[in-house]
Amino acid sequence: MAERKLNIALAGAGLMGRLLAWRMSEKGQQVSLFESGSLEKPAGACHTAAGMISPLSELFHCPLPIYQLGMQSLQYWPDWVSQLEQTTGSKVDYRQKGSILIAHPQDRSELLQFQQELDAKLGSENREQLQWLDNNSLRNLEPELEHFDRGLFLASEADIDNRKLLPALLQALRQNHIRLHENTPAECAPGTVHSVRGTESFDLVIDTRGLGAKKQISGLRGVRGEVMVVETPEVQLNRPVRLLHPRYQLYAVPRANNQTVIGATEIESEDMSPISLRSTMELSSALYSIHPAFAEARVIETRVNCRPATMDNLPVVESQPGLMRINGLFRHGYLLASALVAQAEIEVSRSTQTTQQVT
Ligand SMILES: Cc1cc2nc3c(=O)[nH]c(=O)nc-3n(C[C@H](O)[C@H](O)[C@H](O)COP(=O)(O)OP(=O)(O)OC[C@H]3O[C@@H](n4cnc5c(N)ncnc54)[C@H](O)[C@@H]3O)c2cc1C
Repeated sequence: MAERKLNIALAGAGLMGRLLAWRMSEKGQQVSLFESGSLEKPAGACHTAAGMISPLSELFHCPLPIYQLGMQSLQYWPDWVSQLEQTTGSKVDYRQKGSILIAHPQDRSELLQFQQELDAKLGSENREQLQWLDNNSLRNLEPELEHFDRGLFLASEADIDNRKLLPALLQALRQNHIRLHENTPAECAPGTVHSVRGTESFDLVIDTRGLGAKKQISGLRGVRGEVMVVETPEVQLNRPVRLLHPRYQLYAVPRANNQTVIGATEIESEDMSPISLRSTMELSSALYSIHPAFAEARVIETRVNCRPATMDNLPVVESQPGLMRINGLFRHGYLLASALVAQAEIEVSRSTQTTQQVT
């Protein structure tokens, strides 16, 4: 069997578009990437996200396939990141140190409920993935969580600094001589892309436009999410921490330079206007309740975007001759991206395999 090289177009240079374009170009395919906005400052949800890759934490609210795909993703990310770091010389800050769930003493039932939900969804497989932490073991992992005496440790979970990953992917795309068309909104059809450049033909078009594909994907909607970035040298966390609370769910993801990404709201709205005062107060007070030293943290950024979601919040992968659409990654882009890209690679590879006689 010989592999025929394809001329592939991708529309949308968000997370899926960049990752797919990079992987396809590494396989020797000829790739063109169309992006409606700027490549340096992505407008998509990928730029706003916290970058957690947390299949167990997400399983509490989500169906099993999200968890299963997420566990697959955890197998691809380390190798892909190290290849990306080697070829571009850029640090991406992928970290697999697990995550910790905590609750205030009066909300401790939230931790128990979390465990029971995962028990119900995963059965006995779950038990070794979830570890109860007492006061001492919690302090060993996260000395700053001194106000909490119990927690849950999800050792397999990871996170990635999206503000480093996205530019590194762009650099790799440039190194691989991908044809990059920014500020070029595109429409996709089987085997063709329509843009201000005209109508161009390709062997395969892959639509990764997130919310930009709303007209083509029935039921696709945006779900508003707000995050804040705070900075303080006073509190040093080592991994993502989630505070379970009956009203305000909060995560705090530590980043380089004493920064912490905190989030996120989830509002059924496609409003992209700046963060509300209410969300700012709720996120800040939940963070302050984790450690009082966060009170003096400086708010250095607020981010708002809409997650592309389907009606059942599951991803959509549609394929027909000459056109593939991958969308609806909702709050799971980083969690699912590498598994979905690997699936797409297999599909593309199948379509390129031709017998020697035919070629
Ligand atoms: C507040 C928040 C926090 C999040 N946190 C996490 C997290 O911790 N972990 C996680 O796994 N996920 C998280 N997510 C979800 C994640 O960001 C998304 O699932 C992911 O970005 C979706 O990737 P995508 O490539 O499909 O879409 P996007 O990232 O939205 O990219 C779509 C791209 O297509 C471009 N485009 C649109 N229309 C056109 C057109 N006509 N032609 C060409 N280009 C076009 C856009 O400009 C954009 O660059 C979060 C999201 C938000 C909003």
